[in-house]
Amino acid sequence: MPRDPRHDILFEPVQIGPKTLTNRFYAVPHCTGFGSEKPASQARFRATKAEGGWAAVCTEEALVSVNSDFWPVFSTRIWDDEDLQNLSVMCEEAHAFGALAGIELAHGGAHARARDARVPAVAPSQLASDYDPFVTPKAMEKDDIRRVREDWVKAAKRSRDAGFDIVYVYGGHAYLPLQFLSPFYNRRTDEYGGSLENRARFWLETLEVVREAIGDDCAVAVRFCVEALSPTGVALEEGLGFVSLADQLVDLWDVNVGSITEWSKDSGTSRFFREGYQLEWTGRVREVTAKPIVGVGRLTSPDKMAEIVSSGAWDLIGAARPSIADPFLPKKIEEGRYGEIRECIGCNICAAGAEYGNQIRCTQNATAGEEYRRGWSPERFEPAANADRDVLVVGAGPAGMECAIVLGKRGMRRVHLVEAEQEIGGLMRWVPQLPGLGEWGRVLNWRAVQLQKLGNVEVITGTRLDAQAVRDYGAEVVVVATGSRWASDGINFLTHQPIPGADPSLPHVLTPEQVMLEGKVPQGKRVVVFDADGYYVAPGLAEKLVADGFEVELVTCHDLVSPLSDETLEGPLLRQHLHDTGVAMRTGTLLTGIQPGRVTARDHVGEPLELEADAVVVVTQRLSNESLFLELARDEDGLRAEGIEGLYRIGDCVAPRLIAEAVFDGHRLGREIDSEDPSVPLPFLRERLVLERVTT
Ligand code: ADP
Ligand code: SF4
Repeated sequence: MPRDPRHDILFEPVQIGPKTLTNRFYAVPHCTGFGSEKPASQARFRATKAEGGWAAVCTEEALVSVNSDFWPVFSTRIWDDEDLQNLSVMCEEAHAFGALAGIELAHGGAHARARDARVPAVAPSQLASDYDPFVTPKAMEKDDIRRVREDWVKAAKRSRDAGFDIVYVYGGHAYLPLQFLSPFYNRRTDEYGGSLENRARFWLETLEVVREAIGDDCAVAVRFCVEALSPTGVALEEGLGFVSLADQLVDLWDVNVGSITEWSKDSGTSRFFREGYQLEWTGRVREVTAKPIVGVGRLTSPDKMAEIVSSGAWDLIGAARPSIADPFLPKKIEEGRYGEIRECIGCNICAAGAEYGNQIRCTQNATAGEEYRRGWSPERFEPAANADRDVLVVGAGPAGMECAIVLGKRGMRRVHLVEAEQEIGGLMRWVPQLPGLGEWGRVLNWRAVQLQKLGNVEVITGTRLDAQAVRDYGAEVVVVATGSRWASDGINFLTHQPIPGADPSLPHVLTPEQVMLEGKVPQGKRVVVFDADGYYVAPGLAEKLVADGFEVELVTCHDLVSPLSDETLEGPLLRQHLHDTGVAMRTGTLLTGIQPGRVTARDHVGEPLELEADAVVVVTQRLSNESLFLELARDEDGLRAEGIEGLYRIGDCVAPRLIAEAVFDGHRLGREIDSEDPSVPLPFLRERLVLERVTT
């Protein structure tokens, strides 16, 4: 299919200062957990996006001073020539694919814990950080201001020497320059405080010296939250005022919304924010500048992208998450391969913990973060050494679907993906029906399309296989991906015991699957949803049941409702949303018994209590559907007799995990199906200092 001519506009070059972008796709800075600790992973991760057609790829925050450091958050640092040397690899790899490389020079100001270096944070005024309330900064003296400016210049020169094309004077997300600009942080009475011009002074002076140092060689960019959507930054009017003041010093405006504490509104999840939502604010920046503008907003639709550029609002389509979910998104649009675009689902698993050094991971793209350490490309698949074998994959949930796709791409002779239900998808048959999670359906939709395209993969539904049927199937390799189910007896992490009375054969006790798949309706009016799981299922069910007309109390033994949603930046928004939709919430409370009409419980200090409840939905933990695998594995002779050389299991059938991990597990097995023992993951490359032993 040729490219739609409406999308041609996305492939025009754009000039930014002394540099030229080959198209309008711009991979904006975002954290990965690699920082300076894993420079090779950093380089290959960004280079994969360059290979996929992004005209620019950027680092995450690159800290200019020792007192700008966020440790234990993993950031890039550019403090000395060894940092320069490591970062130059990223530039070389990006340049090899024709992309520009950008570095987001940053200073954390009041938020910089600097626990590694043990130096105090510095900020315009001595106000405790709203990001980390245990950091109270030093109010900057003129010498501190001068030193930070000098550090920025040194970092900018090093960035240029490392090969970077775009150098940021980053102030977005309420970092130091924005702290000067915002009265929330700045209470100074000298020439750096008071009027907008005074509050802008630090940022403008820093821009001036950086521009003077490298402006002929590199494009100077500013990343800026033009509207904080909270008091912790500036409102749009002042945001536009700053753009006017700084415009002659800037080659590229990289604009977004939110702040460090309101990151949830910048990296907005699909539950609360629709594609392109930031335009409402960042679309206004054009009113005050003719310079190139890049904006973000989880954009994956080429029509929407073309519409934005055609409207003149932005010159460049920025992306963090869409470029993680599909590093080859620009190439696929360019070549008209629309059906192959793996759209981000807006779940923020990528953001969860990445900044604390967790391996970045993506629900949609199993290869994200694995480019260097496992050598995986999202688009390249080596023919398998045992490609002459037939494979049976039992169960078409996220793990089974992903595994079948990888095996298909690796050229296995025949891959049969056999599913018991009439529809493929496993838990993705019902999860996207929870309120707000519709976009999660992309996990299934993308895979369904790819499965259809692979000539060597056949999908068979409505067929439940038992051990004998598997043995008789005729495949040499068997992969069991039978998933998991919710515990029906209330067994949970706190007591490791069932909850007395939790019996879903009774009319007043329900499991998530009964509600979502079997159409079981709670009896009566008052429903307790009991949550020990801590993520999206219990809040989703509670909201659905309120919409269905029930009075719902979400009772959780965690200290917060849905603590895992805090990692995906959704927690505060989710709790507010549940409150607004009428879900009552009770935290720190463990259910101790379920009876008709009431539940007994224990609060966080052990006091007993009773709640009236006509029905209870029990969301405690999942259990693997492992019986098929275990039965097959027990009978080695039976496997041998039927010519089965390999029996493996993947996904939730091994241990119930995040969807991202089930997908990863399926992908991993597919990649390593021809290794010596595919059931054991191959070792991956580690980046660490290895001490040389010197014997004397
Ligand atoms: P995962 O997240 O690991 O992919 P899911 O629970 O989402 O797990 O999916 C598992 C899928 O396996 C479900 O669609 C289920 O119907 C299917 N399944 C389970 N047992 C069998 C079986 N014996 N034969 C065929 N399909 C099965
Ligand atoms: Fe998008 Fe989720 Fe992947 Fe992040 S983890 S890029 S939000 S699909």
